[in-house]
Amino acid sequence: MKLLEDRIRQDGTVLPGNVLKVDNFLNHQVDPQLMDQLGAEFARRFADAGITKILTVESSGIAPAVMTGLHLNVPVIFARKHKSLTLTDHLYTAKVFSYTKQVNNDISIDRRFLSPEDRVLIIDDFLANGQAVQGLLDIARTAQIEVAGVGVVIEKRFQKGHKLVVDAGIQLEALASIAAFEDNTVIFAED
Ligand code: 5GP
Repeated sequence: MKLLEDRIRQDGTVLPGNVLKVDNFLNHQVDPQLMDQLGAEFARRFADAGITKILTVESSGIAPAVMTGLHLNVPVIFARKHKSLTLTDHLYTAKVFSYTKQVNNDISIDRRFLSPEDRVLIIDDFLANGQAVQGLLDIARTAQIEVAGVGVVIEKRFQKGHKLVVDAGIQLEALASIAAFEDNTVIFAED
């Protein structure tokens, strides 16, 4: 998506550890108009997928997920992050290793928000090694719901997550796809 690539070129900063900082439009300050356009694009790409709900993880997935939910006219559920969980009977839970914070989190979704008839779309801000998406896939499997697709605002295609989702046979849509970082410059994938 050219609009997003231009914004990344303009405002993104490459940090050590293959981290792209985009905190003036996505990860801290949020640009609502851009989020609306991203949401419309996800909705267009998944229009025929029969989505009934959107799943994401707090906090940076929420803005693009909510805008996608608005355009698809479906509810949005964000998994909550916890250091560790004790009373879990009413929750679906999974373990997620955080790429940027390098710590393990438990994520959870209240059981009453998912039912076996649901077909969900997973939305997140970044796809790196795929841990966050894997956590949501684990929850979907436990809840016996079908995952119709994964949409990420930015994927770093050179990391493991892209292959993980594609190998699982799930439709993956990335609105910007980064092939590499070279000399602190973002190189976008061709297709
Ligand atoms: P994964 O679970 O795929 O390894 O990493 C995805 C999660 O880590 C995203 O939800 C995002 O919050 C964070 N993340 C991974 N890579 C980056 C990055 O390059 N920049 C930023 N800002 N967050 C990232």
